[in-house]
Amino acid sequence: MYRTHTCGALRPKNINETVTLSGWVQKSRDLGGMTFIDIRDRYGITQLTFNMETNPVLCEKARQLGREDVVQVRGHVIERSSKNPNMPTGEVEVTVSQLTVLNKSKLPPFTIEDETDGGEEIRMKFRYLDLRRNPLKNNLILRHKLAIETRKYLDNLDFIEIETPYLIKSTPEGARDFIVPSRMHPGEFYALPQSPQTFKQLLMVSGYDRYFQIVRCFRDEDLRADRQPEFTQIDCEMSFVEREDILTMFEGLTKHLFKSLINITLDDFPHMLYDDAIRLYGSDKPDIRFGMQFVELNQVLQNSGFKVFDEAELVVGINVPGASNYSRKQLDQLIDFVKRPQVGAKGLVWVKYNEDGSIKSSVDKFYTPEQLKSCFEIAKGKPGDLLLIMAGETNSTRNALNVLRLEMGDRLELRKKNEFAPLWVIDFPLLEWDEEHQRFHAMHHPFTSPSGNTIEELNDNPSAIKANAYDLVINGIELGGGSIRIHDRTLQEKMFELLGFSQEEAESQFGFLMGAFEYGAPPHGGIAFGLDRVAAVLSGEESIRDFIAFPKNNAGRDVMIDTPSAIAEEQLTELKLKHDKN
Ligand code: ASP
Repeated sequence: MYRTHTCGALRPKNINETVTLSGWVQKSRDLGGMTFIDIRDRYGITQLTFNMETNPVLCEKARQLGREDVVQVRGHVIERSSKNPNMPTGEVEVTVSQLTVLNKSKLPPFTIEDETDGGEEIRMKFRYLDLRRNPLKNNLILRHKLAIETRKYLDNLDFIEIETPYLIKSTPEGARDFIVPSRMHPGEFYALPQSPQTFKQLLMVSGYDRYFQIVRCFRDEDLRADRQPEFTQIDCEMSFVEREDILTMFEGLTKHLFKSLINITLDDFPHMLYDDAIRLYGSDKPDIRFGMQFVELNQVLQNSGFKVFDEAELVVGINVPGASNYSRKQLDQLIDFVKRPQVGAKGLVWVKYNEDGSIKSSVDKFYTPEQLKSCFEIAKGKPGDLLLIMAGETNSTRNALNVLRLEMGDRLELRKKNEFAPLWVIDFPLLEWDEEHQRFHAMHHPFTSPSGNTIEELNDNPSAIKANAYDLVINGIELGGGSIRIHDRTLQEKMFELLGFSQEEAESQFGFLMGAFEYGAPPHGGIAFGLDRVAAVLSGEESIRDFIAFPKNNAGRDVMIDTPSAIAEEQLTELKLKHDKN
């Protein structure tokens, strides 16, 4: 038997027992006649003691142990003379009588501690060592519990988990597909699913009514901190539902996850129109933990001779509470911040409402103090506040001010890690105009139904049509999104037509789905959550990478197994990706 207890199990009640433990050497200390070794496994750490006087041979053997060696020990549990209240096993230690080295370890390339000295790259290369560290271990345990709680909750409400295929035909969800060549059908390819979208809709046609799946999705996109080429969704679909039914159901799931996993009780989620989110926060995923809503100032600030504002499509600002004491240097820093290419603004105007009621600004030449004070009135500012104003083309100005607002939220420490502000963003536009290709794209995906419009209305002004789509946003992060779907062949055909598909293209790519709609497709809708992201948000983290056991790096590579990588000539030939010279 390798062990009677784990390294996290022993307590005062075990005193006087003889136990066997197995684990990794975390660290060792020699103190005069005694050697102390901490032995670690997934469950915790136990202190072992070796006595030079009573057992010099064994003690000498213990002194030879290196970090991360795997050992088995047998010994006697005793009360510790100096207890460690920070360790669950801190009241006891084991005096060892037998020590077996199960396997030596090379010196690890970084320390296996909560705070490691290893850089990103080396830790990715030795991911199996990085995963020994507590922060990663705790992330994976949280992720596991998240999956369990999701399954429990949905199972209780009659949802059935059904697997859908990974080798499919491309589903357009806005990203590129990963492609898998078929050996048996040379020149033909499968695609890995960007999501099980069409399959879950087909399951509704089949009458499954309430479906979910914790499922891997694949998207060949440029990577960012919160993106991975393969990621996991909690994918859901329901029949005979309207938008409110879906929002209520999955607000319930979200509340359950927060309560059961981090003991946070969430209030009911407010609903915000997409148009309002854009107008007030410059983002379709606003962080509403703090205010600083956008105030549009065209009315007050245009036509006073300041060219930058006069020529702008939009003049818009945020009132930063209590920041009128910002120094010249701090203001210059903000100007540099917005001019960085990532933000892309041309400049920034500041107006201080000093505590004594006076006004000072970077545009004093053009405006009277009364004019500037009226901006604070509109923004509900008060003495002591600072107004930051940007101007230019509407979309890019809003985007830039959104970045600045979040930055100010960070600087003023208003984006608290342990505070959660969820909301539903609703009424997205159905279509998005693509300047480059001069055509419409579906903002969500082509299976999303327009909200309340008839087919005729779709023709008149496509860009004004709203989608019956919704996103769940928490703290500025999109955790999930979905829609009520089209379930009627004619409307789906119309949708493909708007998106620039010819009838033949629509038929060859989606004939199976439109065909299914002709056999009694029920009204249906659904949603998908990013499971990796939910796990990260529950932990107050931004990056999803450390919630995935074996993620890809920023360049989409797995540096541990070294992939993507070349394949053998033979394989290429067999797949007809390269022609045999003979
Ligand atoms: N398939 C969608 C996505 O992956 C989610 C949905 O509409 O249910 O974003």
